Amino acid sequence: MKYCLIFLSLFAGTLGAQTAGGTVDRSLPEFTFDRLDLAGELFFLSSDYLQGRRTGSAGNEVAAEYIAAQLRAFGYAPLDAADSSYFQTVPLRQVGSPESAELTIGSDTYRSGGDLLVARGPEATASGPVVFANFGWVDAENGRDDYADLDVKGKIVITRPGTPDDQSQQAVFRGISRKAEMAAAAGAVAIFELYTLPFPWQRFRSYLGGERISMNEDSAPATIPYGFIRLEDDKVAALRGAPEGFPGKVTSSGMRITDMASRNVGGILRGSNPDLADEYLLMTAHFDHVGVGKQGGGYYSAEDSIFNGARDNAFGTVSLLAAARAFAEAPPERSVIILAVTGEELGLLGSQYYSEHPLVPLDQTVFNFNTDGAGYNDTSAISLIGMGRTGIDEQIETAAAAFATNVISNPAPEQGLFDRSDNVSFAAKGIPALTFSPGMTGFDDAIAKYYHQVTDNPETVDLDYLKRYCQVFTLAARLIANRPTVPFWKEGDKYETAGRALYGK
Ligand SMILES: [Zn+2]
Repeated sequence: MKYCLIFLSLFAGTLGAQTAGGTVDRSLPEFTFDRLDLAGELFFLSSDYLQGRRTGSAGNEVAAEYIAAQLRAFGYAPLDAADSSYFQTVPLRQVGSPESAELTIGSDTYRSGGDLLVARGPEATASGPVVFANFGWVDAENGRDDYADLDVKGKIVITRPGTPDDQSQQAVFRGISRKAEMAAAAGAVAIFELYTLPFPWQRFRSYLGGERISMNEDSAPATIPYGFIRLEDDKVAALRGAPEGFPGKVTSSGMRITDMASRNVGGILRGSNPDLADEYLLMTAHFDHVGVGKQGGGYYSAEDSIFNGARDNAFGTVSLLAAARAFAEAPPERSVIILAVTGEELGLLGSQYYSEHPLVPLDQTVFNFNTDGAGYNDTSAISLIGMGRTGIDEQIETAAAAFATNVISNPAPEQGLFDRSDNVSFAAKGIPALTFSPGMTGFDDAIAKYYHQVTDNPETVDLDYLKRYCQVFTLAARLIANRPTVPFWKEGDKYETAGRALYGK
């Protein structure tokens, strides 16, 4: 901090600019970012040839190689010092639903491709009564056990969807694999949830019945088949009225399990202040996107089936690299880890893997500054997801003001954005973390038009805005890295306890 204060007081008169939060040195590299440099990078990363940068695809690897080459050129030390490598391999497992499955209840037979969806589970053939088990939920802490008075040993279980407290779509998605474990623990041989979501069955089936990629180490294959069934109301009533159940049989065969890998990419830059250089600012952006055609997000056609992900998140990757370059030219006081993560679109997998296998100790990692976004509908502003929570608002305000940009605090709260990007992998470990996003006043049609759509092309991106975004992002990160004290969770924040445990505060 000393260096900075002297520098500022010497040059404040000529180079400095008064902003809301103080004086900023306008000779810093971020003040001369070149719009065309940034545009070139954006067009490359969201080129059709990168095929939507899906985790595990060649396009994703090309993007990773590009990022590593840039960090090498900027003079960053390899992220993995022991291996002299800019990469961190993330072991993944791809699991598809069984090719064929059948469930018999009494005299009725349901098949996959029809009213039955076996989402996961081992190959199986088992006969046993089919019984109704309410929600099939066990929560000992809150005194709930739907199997307490119900013997399901050797039986096939049908349940209501979701959990006793929550039947929302999210709860249904979250719940089913946990419910499979609960049913298996109670001795059941298979479990199916009644499908009642207001979402076309066809689409749900192709979504959940498709491949799913998860972290290799926590995807122990499910021990019993589980999935969803569409049953008519009278059949449900009959099941509920028959505690002994109906004779039944379940078969599933043709499992598809493939081990695979993808890579995080990163480099490290030593801070300029020897007193602070053992503290690290972790800057992240995911570089993966959703791929092509049915791998992807929204509607696609024969003419355009590539989800280019220019906004999501080539935009953030470009800003991460812009900051990396600026910091190489004029290092901040604390050290910086630049980490481009893979697997975000599949469930924050790359960031989660790094947080479990950090290459710099987490308790020396003082902040995670993540950039990601669904897009923008207000180019006069940037958005901060997590504003008011980690004590860095002043640095953000100062950086934004230096580029005549506004700050939108926590937009679209109904979207739960804080918990939907990579920042949450680090927040969960206690590291103060947030996501810096393009200006978004709400999740409206202007956002939905591009969010996870084939229309998210680089040609549709406002390049002047991209430049300003990169500038604010870089300066904000610099100001955070130069703070005299480390950021920390606001009292009472849901991650405060984890933070105290991590740093021994
Ligand atoms: Zn996305």
